[in-house]
Amino acid sequence: MLPREAFDRTLELLRKHHEWMKTTINLIASENVPSPAVREALTADLGNRYAEGWPGERVYAGCIYIDQVELLAMELARELFKAEHANVQPVSGLTANLAAYTALAEPGDTMMCLSIASGGHISMGKKKFGGTAGAVHGLGVEYFPFNERRMNIDVDATAKKIAEVKPKLLTFGGSVFLFPHPVKELSEVAKEHGTRVMYDAAHVAGLIAGGQFQDPLREGAELMTCSTHKTLPGPQHGMILCKKELAEPVNKAVFPGIVSNHHLHAVAALAITLAEMFEFGKEYAAQIIKNARALGQALYERGFSVLCPDLGFTASHTLVVDITKYGDGGTLEQRLEKANIVLNRNLLPWDIREGRHYKNPGGIRLGTSEVTRLGMKEGEMGDIAEFIKRVVIDGENPERVAADVTEFRRDYQKVHYAFESATQAYEYIKVH
Ligand SMILES: *Cc1c(COP(=O)(O)O)cnc(C)c1O
Repeated sequence: MLPREAFDRTLELLRKHHEWMKTTINLIASENVPSPAVREALTADLGNRYAEGWPGERVYAGCIYIDQVELLAMELARELFKAEHANVQPVSGLTANLAAYTALAEPGDTMMCLSIASGGHISMGKKKFGGTAGAVHGLGVEYFPFNERRMNIDVDATAKKIAEVKPKLLTFGGSVFLFPHPVKELSEVAKEHGTRVMYDAAHVAGLIAGGQFQDPLREGAELMTCSTHKTLPGPQHGMILCKKELAEPVNKAVFPGIVSNHHLHAVAALAITLAEMFEFGKEYAAQIIKNARALGQALYERGFSVLCPDLGFTASHTLVVDITKYGDGGTLEQRLEKANIVLNRNLLPWDIREGRHYKNPGGIRLGTSEVTRLGMKEGEMGDIAEFIKRVVIDGENPERVAADVTEFRRDYQKVHYAFESATQAYEYIKVH
């Protein structure tokens, strides 16, 4: 292919992606659509600069404005999450976790967290699975005993296991995160054994910022990591919030430990996100959760085995559906994608035991962060459940459903819960 053809083709693919996004229902629990101002910041020249080090003590010249931006982002983060210290330099949630492990534990120490099948993230994985905790930081990994019916950590069994194993670190949080974790109860146990406590809020940071989930830093966690682009609707980036005593080890772990360039355009975009969450976060987070529960109910009423019906399905943005009556998660994910409904296949906690695999698991995971951001409320969750039913239960041709999804999506093209929305959510912005 000629260079000019490759150039044009790449830009054409970007435009096609944007056009397609305008017509899809995106239920990926780890994704969101940022505000127009956040997208503007992401195209700014800061993304071409370096600012190694700390504001005011940089190893690079040219940081007059980025220093002010970074200080603003840190101040907003501290206030929004009521934290003594914020570090906004990790370039992702995973690197934030790696920095936190570095600050709190040495290679060879043991960490207790959720297994991947129970909702843990690859960054918490064992060495034999290539996970960050085991393979990169050299931690031994032990799992929290998990109550599969309640989709939560089993407090009594975990308290016993902490006393036996005496881990160096507990890491709460996960990627399938339906209900608040027992941080308060288990932090008290941890304290008796000199165990440190951190909380991975990658998925739920926006719900915490809006005051609608749990408040881990008040419940006993010394440190909280996040991605800044899941329920917190910002740029793809990471952040660490912690007690003042941990500021120095955390800062050192991040730089020079884990970042050189820390994606300055994303730091600016994060400052904008945090300011918008101050203003709109409470309302946004509350609606995300209302929508998730409404979607759970609407799917349940149509015959889907949504997990935890007796607990209201969820207390977060996420739902898990046992899809084994209708096929496997992998195949259904692909059928739904053809219908312009984008979601994830997902391992159920008991899948491995029953011989299923992460490629063709028994579940699907759905999140309501992005559809809520587009202004959808409980009523629209019924429409979405009906589209999913037509594909999965009725076996309707997905292309036919896609046409109806496209029509349905016409009315939801604006980003809500933002200061400015002149540009539509998925509008392609031509710069060259
Ligand atoms: C998504 C996720 C991460 C990693 O986030 P990235 O920003 O994608 O690196 C870490 N922990 C949990 C629990 C997650 O779900």
